[in-house]
Amino acid sequence: MSLLDFNERYRRLPERLLKALESGQTGQSYIFSGDSIEELQLFVDDWVQTIACSNLTAHGACGECRNCHLLDSKNYSELYTLEPASKSRTILVNDLREFQSRFFYKSNSNMKKIGVIVEADRMQVAAQNAFLKTLE
Ligand SMILES: [Zn+2]
Repeated sequence: MSLLDFNERYRRLPERLLKALESGQTGQSYIFSGDSIEELQLFVDDWVQTIACSNLTAHGACGECRNCHLLDSKNYSELYTLEPASKSRTILVNDLREFQSRFFYKSNSNMKKIGVIVEADRMQVAAQNAFLKTLE
């Protein structure tokens, strides 16, 4: 599956994202929302692979380069995911701060650092405030 396979479902957003990436005009962060976490995860996985791919094609990630293989095998060392934890299924402020600290320094490799926050609506208020300060 490639990023553009989602084009009709997401009203040509994948096409616009791909064009932004090709022209070096991507945003620093994106919020994707929807009803199905499983569907969103499939889309985000393709978007992450497209960002990381070192041999981008007209349809998105090539699926053949080193970074694509590292992502496929879950060995891309600069992909950081934050998701709800604990009994309350919330994202705690300390977990958010640890997640953010991964982005303070440049990567030692030539891989792009990529962060994904799953179910960001599950952040506790202190985590929301800390995250907003980062985005400002
Ligand atoms: Zn690739």
